[in-house]
Amino acid sequence: GCGICVKKCPFDAIQIINLPKDLDKDTTHRYGANTFKLHSSCRLPVPRPGQVLGLIGANGIGKSTALKVLQGKIKPNLGRFKNPPDWQEILTYFRGSELQNYFTRMLEDNLKAIIKRQDVERIPEKVQGNVGKLLERLDQRGMIDQLCIDLELNQLLDRNIQDLSGGELQRFAIAGIAAQSAEIYMFDEPSVYLDVKQRLKAAQVIRSLLRTNSYVIVVEHDLSVLDYMSDFICCLYGKPGAYGVVTLPFSVREGINVFLAGFVPTENLRFRNESLTFKIAEVQENAEEIETYQRYKYPTMTKTYDNFKLTVMEGEFTDSQIVVMLGENGTGKTTFIKMLAGLEKPDTVEGTDTEIPKFYVSHKPQKLKPKFQGTVRQLLHLKIRDSYTYPQFTSDVMKPLQIEQLMDQEIINLSGGERQRVALCLCLGKPADIYLIDEPSASLDSEQRIVASKVIKRFILHAKKTAFVVEHDFIMATYLADKVVVFEGRPSVDCTANAPQSLQSGMNKFLSHLDITFRRDPTNYRPRINKLGSTKDREQKSEGSYYYL
Ligand code: ADP
Ligand code: ADP
Ligand code: MG
Ligand code: MG
Repeated sequence: GCGICVKKCPFDAIQIINLPKDLDKDTTHRYGANTFKLHSSCRLPVPRPGQVLGLIGANGIGKSTALKVLQGKIKPNLGRFKNPPDWQEILTYFRGSELQNYFTRMLEDNLKAIIKRQDVERIPEKVQGNVGKLLERLDQRGMIDQLCIDLELNQLLDRNIQDLSGGELQRFAIAGIAAQSAEIYMFDEPSVYLDVKQRLKAAQVIRSLLRTNSYVIVVEHDLSVLDYMSDFICCLYGKPGAYGVVTLPFSVREGINVFLAGFVPTENLRFRNESLTFKIAEVQENAEEIETYQRYKYPTMTKTYDNFKLTVMEGEFTDSQIVVMLGENGTGKTTFIKMLAGLEKPDTVEGTDTEIPKFYVSHKPQKLKPKFQGTVRQLLHLKIRDSYTYPQFTSDVMKPLQIEQLMDQEIINLSGGERQRVALCLCLGKPADIYLIDEPSASLDSEQRIVASKVIKRFILHAKKTAFVVEHDFIMATYLADKVVVFEGRPSVDCTANAPQSLQSGMNKFLSHLDITFRRDPTNYRPRINKLGSTKDREQKSEGSYYYL
């Protein structure tokens, strides 16, 4: 057996992704005939009291389903969707495992289990009214004032739910869950729409809910945040949309490394052909090559809206270079991108060269609201006819982004992650000097984020173009960046975009504002956040090295 249940476990001997025939007997939940299956009895993720359980796995692998099963909202039907078992039978089925304790406690002690839903953008469909009043009504723990400070909600208390942006809805939703008294708290993708600082605050709020007898479970695709937030981790693997399997629990470091390696050593099981690493590919740069780089300059510029002023310091960049924009929400990253794209005109321009060069740009906007009526193929044909059939583009961009599988789907029916992949493909397919890519990781799972980063990196190098990328996923941002632009100032009031600088010095500046330090995992070079006040944290701060290359 696998060690946590008394049943004979069918997983011990699996070496490859192919599932054994008798796996059907071991289904925890199945929505219906020929639909998604969540395996297996002994391996629903098992929460532990007093600890944060992190779940990691591809989109469509059953993470949200697992949360709903653990909430008791979906009664595990053990695969028998036509003739579902009652709780007595379910408990008998789980007998001897940690899950039996969990479900018994949940049912007998009537534990309250609440979930911060994944799709926060749909909250306004269900809840209407004033933000402050709603939060007050949920405030069973008497914590709402502190939560509003931690989650930057005070300026939103008079607003209507209907008028909140994605990031505001996310913080509202996290506060709404954290305000309630419950024994089981679950957070389904809490970092979506949040900037780095807000992600860390959210992680701290989530950890603050731990009590010796309560359970906290999170699903998260930002590996740095998952790492920071969790005490232990279960990976989910399988075939998205078809079946998902949950691993045994691992320590945080081990669990994330298992996910990246695509290999579960304890089960001698490989679920992905290649492992994912973060070693920044050393690009051979000799002097001659550098001289062939095309250099571009832009002048010092300002842009004023009713309530916001952005100053962009003059800067330069070259081709074959990725410049990552680092800054909190509301510091003007999108505004700067629009200025480079010629979509917004600056109010003042000064500097050595006041001419704003005419850049040919291709822009992937932050918000994707496709209106196109038709299939992916029709859209690609209309927008990037020459690129999408070009062999190099097919192999470098379309294949890794798995666009071919989506070709005959209607654009309006695509999921968020599928839409993002198509949008990235359209952006890179358009001939341009500069590619402006606003938040490419949104809606992508951890694996797709790494794939997308590699696609962007390779494309920019091969095509000898420049990319400006806005990215909050720390691992993705540091993987992509050749140079960084650090945004400073008061968000939504007045901010400055510094000139592009090296990853090392820019990251140091950015992280010192956030008061966090990073180290690197020795195995796969993954950046890891140091716990605040830990020995490493204090050492690195005193040396002024918030970030290691
Ligand atoms: P994840 O959270 O890992 O992205 P989900 O648990 O949301 O995955 O979904 C897993 C699979 O189950 C998906 O293929 C999804 O389409 C399917 N699914 C989710 N909810 C239902 C449902 N109510 N009925 C049928 N299939 C569902
Ligand atoms: P970021 O991308 O860094 O989150 P943005 O560039 O989107 O920031 O916005 C910076 C600030 O400018 C925000 O306070 C935003 O409300 C404001 N802003 C952006 N566009 C407009 C506009 N067209 N009119 C008025 N204010 C705007
Ligand atoms: Mg989900
Ligand atoms: Mg933006």
